[in-house]
Amino acid sequence: MARQQITAIKRSVLDMIMAAAKDSHPREFACVLRGIDGAIAEIVLVPGTVMGDRHALLRLHMLPIDFTIVGSAHSHPSPSCEPSRADMDFFSKFGPVHIIASYPYESDSWAAYDRDGTPIELDIV
Ligand SMILES: [Zn+2]
Repeated sequence: MARQQITAIKRSVLDMIMAAAKDSHPREFACVLRGIDGAIAEIVLVPGTVMGDRHALLRLHMLPIDFTIVGSAHSHPSPSCEPSRADMDFFSKFGPVHIIASYPYESDSWAAYDRDGTPIELDIV
């Protein structure tokens, strides 16, 4: 996985994640994140991932190795950005930065975590 240090996320990417999460509600949305020059710059939809599939994140393991992929984003249809145990297991194996967006998917209904599940701050650029 990527060795980039990620410290920021593009506002357009955050807006896309929130819009997709809202569209998927009450099911979950999941995607992977591409980093460029230290910022999350693109979302990448994973082929074969069905919206609302509770195992969508796990399916990401089937992605080809791509060193621009820096982590994942997924939504929680509940108003909690707390990672579940399954989320934590996944985070530890899949890149340095993970976003959870939660209901009601407002501009502040999200949180970012590192691979240990520790909350991290990202600048919005
Ligand atoms: Zn989760």
